[in-house]
Amino acid sequence: MATDTSGEEAPDAYARLVRKVKRINNVGAASEVLSWDQEVMMPEGGTPARAQQLSTLSGLQHELLTEDELGDLLDELDGEDLDGERAAVVREVRREYERAVRVPTELIEEISTTTSESLPVWERAREEDDWSAFAPYVEKLVDLKRQYAEHIDPDEDPYAVLFADYEPYLPLSRAEEILEELRETLVPMIAEIRESETPITTDAFASRGPYDVDEQEELVRRALTLLGYPWERGRLDTSSHPFSTGNQFDARLTTRFKPDDPIDALTSTIHEFGHATYTLGLPEADYGTPLGEHRGLAVHESQSRLWENHVGRSKPFWELFLPTLVEYFPQAEEVTVEGAYESVNEVAEDNVIRVEADELTYHLHIILRFEIERALVSGDLDVADVPEVWNDKMEEYLGVRPESDAEGCLQDIHWSHGSFGYFPTYSLGSVLAAQLFAAAERDVVDLEAKIRAGEFDPLREWLTENVHRYGQRYETNELVRKATGEDFSADAFVDYVTGKYGDLYGLDSA
Ligand code: MG
Repeated sequence: MATDTSGEEAPDAYARLVRKVKRINNVGAASEVLSWDQEVMMPEGGTPARAQQLSTLSGLQHELLTEDELGDLLDELDGEDLDGERAAVVREVRREYERAVRVPTELIEEISTTTSESLPVWERAREEDDWSAFAPYVEKLVDLKRQYAEHIDPDEDPYAVLFADYEPYLPLSRAEEILEELRETLVPMIAEIRESETPITTDAFASRGPYDVDEQEELVRRALTLLGYPWERGRLDTSSHPFSTGNQFDARLTTRFKPDDPIDALTSTIHEFGHATYTLGLPEADYGTPLGEHRGLAVHESQSRLWENHVGRSKPFWELFLPTLVEYFPQAEEVTVEGAYESVNEVAEDNVIRVEADELTYHLHIILRFEIERALVSGDLDVADVPEVWNDKMEEYLGVRPESDAEGCLQDIHWSHGSFGYFPTYSLGSVLAAQLFAAAERDVVDLEAKIRAGEFDPLREWLTENVHRYGQRYETNELVRKATGEDFSADAFVDYVTGKYGDLYGLDSA
C-alpha cells in the first residue's frame, strides 16, 4: 500500500500508475523545454538535430503511454473504490491511454519530425510572403493528422477527433453552437459600430510613435511585476509568435515588439501572463500527474483572455497604468485615460491580424480559420487554394482583404505545429473568460477598485481557488459549474460585449 498527500491509503496499483504517469509526463515536459528553446534561443541551423531529438522524445513518451503494463494497471483499478481525486487521475490516464494505443509510434514520430521541420519553413515563408514554400508542409501535416484521427476513431469526423486533443470535454458540436451564437451576436454589432456616429479616440498611441523597443521591454516587465508575475519562477523572452510554456515551478512567457505600437506587446504580454498564472497556480504536490496539469485549452485560454481583456483593456487598469506608460514614453503625456481606453478597444476597420484584433472581430478571425481547417481536414479544400479562400472570407466577414499572405494565411504559427483543431478553443476561452470574470466580480469585493489600486492578488487568488488548483480534477463543464454556479455558456460574454461596446460606440441595442 502507498500513501499520497491526502494521507489515505491507496491501492498499490494506483501508486504504480502514478509513478508511470510521472515518467511519461516528464518526458513530455522535457520536449516542451526543447520546443521553447527552438522558438526562443536555437539558431535556425539546429533544426535537423532538434527535429530528431523531439521526435525521439515523442516516440518514447508514446511507447511509455502504450505499455501493456499501464493498461493492466488501469484495468486493475477499474473495480477499485477510489476517492474523487484518484478516480480523476485514473479517468484522465485511461483517456490518454486509449487514444494513444490506437496510434502507431512511427506516425507519432513522423508528425513530430515534420512539425519541427515546418517551423523554420513557416518563419521564412512568412518573411518572404511565399505560401507555396510552406504549402507542402501543410499538406503533409494535414495528411498525417488525418491518419492520426482515423487511427483513434475511424467512425468520427476527423476534425472532432483532433479538436478533442485540445479540449477533451466539450464536444465539437458544443463549440460549433457557441461559434454560431457569437456570429449571430457579433456580425450585427460590428455592422452597427461601423455605422456609429459616436466619435471615439483611435490613435492615442499610434499617432505618437515610434516607441523604442528596449523601453517597451522595460515597460512590459514593469507591467508583469505589477500584475504579480514571480520572476523567480519565470522569464520573458521574444519570439515570432508570443506563447507561454512550463509548469508550476517554471512558467515562461514570450512576447514581441512593434516599434509603432506599444499596446501590441503590452496586451500580448498580459495575455501570456494569464496563461503563466494558471500554470503557476496548479498544485505543486501533484506535478507530473493529471491533478497538476491544466484542464484543457479552453480553460487555459480563458485565463489569458481574462487578464488581457477584462483587466488589461478595462478602464480601471488604464487609470492605474497610463502614468507608468508615460514614464517610459513621455510622448504619450497628453493621452487621457478615456483616450487610452478607447484606443485599446477600438473596433478597427482594417485590421487583418488575429492577435491584434479587438474583442468582437477576434471571433470572426477564429470562425474563418475554423471553416478553413475543417475543409482542409475533410479534403474539401486544397492547400494551394487556402490563400484565396482566406482572403475571400476576410473580405466577407471583416470587410478587408489582406495585402499579402504574410498578413493573411501565413500569420499564425499553429499549422506549422500541425495544430489543426486548436483555434476554436480561443473563442471558447474568451467566452469562458467573461463567465469567470462575472463570477469573480460577484465574489471579490470591489474588484474594479482593487484593479484601479493595483491590487491584483485578490483576483489571482480567486482564480487559483476556483480554477487553477483543481488541475484535471473535474471535466470542463463541471469545473465551470463549480466556479460560476452555471453551465458553460456564452451568456456572460454577450452581456459583457453588449454593455462595453454599446457604451463605447453609443449603440441602440445596448
Ligand atoms: Mg493564448
